[in-house]
Amino acid sequence: MLAAIKAHAEGVDVLMITSGAFGRDSAVTWMAGGGFQCALYPPDSLEVQSKDTIINGRHLSNQELVYTLLKEAPSCIMDLEGWGEKFHKKSGRFVQYFLPGHSYARCLQREKEKGVSNFGDEHHKVLPRQIRAKGIPIREDFLVIDLLSADGRIAGAVGIDLREGDFKAISAKVVVLATSGYAACYKHYLTGPSVTGWGHGMAYRAGAEFMDMEFIDCYPYVAVWPKLTMVGDWAANVRYALSGKFYNKMGFEFWESYRRKGMTRAQAIFKEVEAGRGSPHGGIYLAFSHLPANLVDDYIKTQGGEKWLKELGAMGFDLRKDAIEVYISAMSTLGGCKIDEHCRTTVPGLYAAGELASGFDGAHTLAGNMMMFCFTSGSVTGREAAKEAKTRQKVEIDEQQVKELHRKVF
Ligand SMILES: Cc1cc2nc3c(=O)[nH]c(=O)nc-3n(C[C@H](O)[C@H](O)[C@H](O)COP(=O)(O)OP(=O)(O)OC[C@H]3O[C@@H](n4cnc5c(N)ncnc54)[C@H](O)[C@@H]3O)c2cc1C
Repeated sequence: MLAAIKAHAEGVDVLMITSGAFGRDSAVTWMAGGGFQCALYPPDSLEVQSKDTIINGRHLSNQELVYTLLKEAPSCIMDLEGWGEKFHKKSGRFVQYFLPGHSYARCLQREKEKGVSNFGDEHHKVLPRQIRAKGIPIREDFLVIDLLSADGRIAGAVGIDLREGDFKAISAKVVVLATSGYAACYKHYLTGPSVTGWGHGMAYRAGAEFMDMEFIDCYPYVAVWPKLTMVGDWAANVRYALSGKFYNKMGFEFWESYRRKGMTRAQAIFKEVEAGRGSPHGGIYLAFSHLPANLVDDYIKTQGGEKWLKELGAMGFDLRKDAIEVYISAMSTLGGCKIDEHCRTTVPGLYAAGELASGFDGAHTLAGNMMMFCFTSGSVTGREAAKEAKTRQKVEIDEQQVKELHRKVF
């Protein structure tokens, strides 16, 4: 969306396409919670944030891209605030929180409103409103299936109008893909089920170069048993604040031995299950039974989690006595289309932004850097794609190619 807004501001014709109902589709951005990292005040700086990002990415990032995008971050914040996003501020200054891996407290959060501090909720309101206010044409409920090419360049896309059921082709001087990651390809994931790398497939078929596909950002524990109807990360929310213990199937509390080796909880859980020491439903045990029962009750109540207890109770589980089974869950994927500092892929006429694009994070994403990357890459992509579009002639659709793609789909 930011790419569309920025391209439109450059005075080119933009068409925004989304596979769902605009502003109410299954975008991951609406789920984002914790924050948005941006160095704003000394002694923090662009240089320190770049260094943190590169070191945490195990030096696999495109360092020029890191610097370019982090430089863009403050103006993205100003845009978002100008459009009405409510950031947490005190005396006119952004309040910034510390998150692991960052040298300074630089995580911006939204102002808490009616108990909600989820940033995604705020983006959800503000960005679609801007697209509409600027009169950017939207094609919603349109599933893009593949890209069209002409003269060695991307020339548009084909897809299915999900309302009419029609197969349609759209020509474009340049295409920006921002179709998110592929977390839902894993057995356990925190995104919506449609986040399966649609754009990755299209870009791959168009010949784009990919990088870092082996790196994913995992939430260390979601409940795999009992299966509950509530959001997948409730076990993590309890575990983060309450001091729970992890056991393998032999009752061994394994976390400390991995921690001493410098491994993460996600790695420890993965290793235990891989070694055949997991629980019956493919996880490990998470228990709170060492804590006084009323302490567990009190904490869960403060989190508004009585419904968890009720639902667990109905399934015969008492969180104060019984262990639940948890496993790691894919949250964000770091691999994707290799982009340069103009957010160009290796295919002429094709740009990539957001989780589909790769090169910023390297092997590991710092908490709150993903949103920052998605916004800044959107911003740069919109501007750069518009610049290129201005230099191109009108594109003719190759009907033969459209027929061939139609044949493949149906
Ligand atoms: C639970 C959760 C919490 C998170 N919290 C944070 C956080 O606090 N801080 C942080 O930095 N990161 C966080 N992340 C990661 C971050 O939210 C994502 O990386 C980011 O939102 C991805 O944005 P995006 O623009 O790439 O994709 P999305 O926001 O998912 O948008 C992709 C869009 O593409 C459309 N689309 C996809 N395929 C097609 C197709 N074939 N045709 C047409 N349209 C299509 C979709 O409908 C959607 O509108 C979180 C992730 C999760 C799952």
